[in-house]
Amino acid sequence: MNIECKTQRNSVRQKTAKMVANDDFQPCECSLCGAEINAAHQSNNPYPLGSEGDKCCHICNVTQVIPARLGLNPDETEDLVRDLLPLVLERLRGQEERLKALKDARKHAA
Ligand SMILES: [Zn+2]
Repeated sequence: MNIECKTQRNSVRQKTAKMVANDDFQPCECSLCGAEINAAHQSNNPYPLGSEGDKCCHICNVTQVIPARLGLNPDETEDLVRDLLPLVLERLRGQEERLKALKDARKHAA
């Protein structure tokens, strides 16, 4: 990643952090499944499902909203989730291992 990309990425992160910090987020329920949503970063726009102003949880976003935006039918959605889930879990495990290695390295350096 070049310096221009890093600068742009950091600028976006700072703006996003301010937006979340300044947000007077009101806890609410997912408009699709009723799960509790306690922070802005846990909420998603359910469009084209739900009504304007509704919020949905991450699970409904991945399993219902994104497939609806892609115009997938329920069978295709199930296939998509089934295919993607192992990849997502693999990536998360990789992140956990990198984080653990980083923490171990810091522990040994201290
Ligand atoms: Zn939900």
